[in-house]
Amino acid sequence: MNTVELECPNCGAGVALAEREHIGVCPYCGSKVCLDNAGNAVLLQKLEKEIEQRDMIGQNEEAHKKRLKNWYKWAYIIIGSDLILSFLGWYLTGTDRSVAVGSVSMLMSLFFAVIIPIFLMAAYPCREVMKGKEITRTPKRSAVLLKLYGIEVPFLITSVLAAYIVAKAVG
Ligand SMILES: [Zn+2]
Repeated sequence: MNTVELECPNCGAGVALAEREHIGVCPYCGSKVCLDNAGNAVLLQKLEKEIEQRDMIGQNEEAHKKRLKNWYKWAYIIIGSDLILSFLGWYLTGTDRSVAVGSVSMLMSLFFAVIIPIFLMAAYPCREVMKGKEITRTPKRSAVLLKLYGIEVPFLITSVLAAYIVAKAVG
């Protein structure tokens, strides 16, 4: 039977590993020795720990993707509702022309344009990562907020203009 001679990573003694076996036991210190993917002799304990960590990272990745998907779903629903409500509000303002309806539409649009992006930003699943010795959030909350304003505000303006044009056409 062919054997591979390994060096015990714990004490440096030679460990004979039969080619068909995956784990050898050091005759001196009793450590369980195996080969990693790169063909280096490592302690079994260490390899198991690495595999466990990799699994954990994989699980976190899955959980993050799920949270992100959920956030997008709600962001679409909320922003979509904003646009529809805003359109209706300004359409009514255009046809009704009462001060009360106009004020409600104004407040509603202001709320959608200013408060909703802040709310969505707060709910965004940012990730904490080690950068050097510091933990930073990625992406930064401010970047998320700017992006949301960049999306929400132009769409709201478009919806208000569309409502105005439709109201005018209707009379
Ligand atoms: Zn050893």
